[in-house]
Amino acid sequence: MNFPYGILVNRKGHRFTDEAPGPVDVNYDHISRAIKDEPDGIAWVVFDQSIHDVPNWKKSIRTDQPPIQSGSIASLAAACGISFEGLEKTVLAYNAACTGGKFNALRPDGLSTRGIDPVKSNWARPIDRGPYVAYPIMAGICFTYGGIKTNRNAEVIDADGRPVPGLYAAGEATGLYYQVYTGATSVLRGAVFGKIAGENAADVRFWPLADIPICRI
Ligand SMILES: Cc1cc2nc3c(=O)[nH]c(=O)nc-3n(C[C@H](O)[C@H](O)[C@H](O)COP(=O)(O)OP(=O)(O)OC[C@H]3O[C@@H](n4cnc5c(N)ncnc54)[C@H](O)[C@@H]3O)c2cc1C
Repeated sequence: MNFPYGILVNRKGHRFTDEAPGPVDVNYDHISRAIKDEPDGIAWVVFDQSIHDVPNWKKSIRTDQPPIQSGSIASLAAACGISFEGLEKTVLAYNAACTGGKFNALRPDGLSTRGIDPVKSNWARPIDRGPYVAYPIMAGICFTYGGIKTNRNAEVIDADGRPVPGLYAAGEATGLYYQVYTGATSVLRGAVFGKIAGENAADVRFWPLADIPICRI
C-alpha cells in the first residue's frame, strides 16, 4: 500500500513499472502482477525519510520484520542483495526526472517524473534524504478472480444458466472479478451474499424437496 510513495526496483536495481498511476487500491493488482514477472518474482520498495510525510504509513506495512535501512543507496542495495550500480544509477535518473510541486499523500497529486521510462505519475519526489529504507515485496494471492457463478439470490448457476436447486454460494468461492479487483469489496460481498445465501438456504420454500411430505417420527 505504500509503494506509490517510493520506487520499486528489481534485482538489477532497475525500475520496471509506474509505481503510482493513481490510487493504490485501483492499481495494486496490476503492479503485483508486474512484480511477479520480474526475476524471482521479487521487488524492493525504496523510500527515503520523506515517507514520514505520509500519515500512518506504517499501519499498512504487512510484515513483522523491520525494514532494511542504510545511510547510502549503495549500502542499501548491498543489504538488499541487489545491484548497487543499478540502484545508484536508477535513483540518480529518477531524482533528476522529478519535476517538483506540492506533495499530497492523500490523493493523486500529479507529481510526476519527466523524461524517464517508466514514468512515475504521482507522488514522485527525489529519494535523497537518508537514511534510506527498503522492503522486499512479493505478490500474494488475495482473491480467486473467478469461481462459481451465482445470481442475486446467491443460488449457484449451472452451465446452462439455470439455478442448481438448493445450492448456494458466497464469498471467495463465487466469481465476480476478472482481471481487475475493485478495492476493499471482498469482505463486503461476502457479508451481503453470505446473509442472502444463509437466509435462502434456511427458507423451506427454496428447498428442492420442499413439496415432499416430511415424515415426522
Ligand atoms: C492478504 C489478503 C488481503 C486481503 N485484503 C482485503 C481487504 O483489504 N478488503 C477486503 O474486502 N478483502 C480482502 N481480502 C479478501 C478477503 O479476506 C476474502 O475475500 C474473504 O476473507 C473471504 O471470505 P470467505 O468466508 O469467502 O472465505 P475464507 O475466509 O477463505 O473462509 C473459508 C473457510 O473455509 C474453511 N474451509 C476450507 N475448506 C474446508 C473444508 N473442506 N471443510 C471445512 N472448512 C473448510 C477454511 O479453513 C476457511 O476458514 C484479502 C485477502 C488476503 C489473502
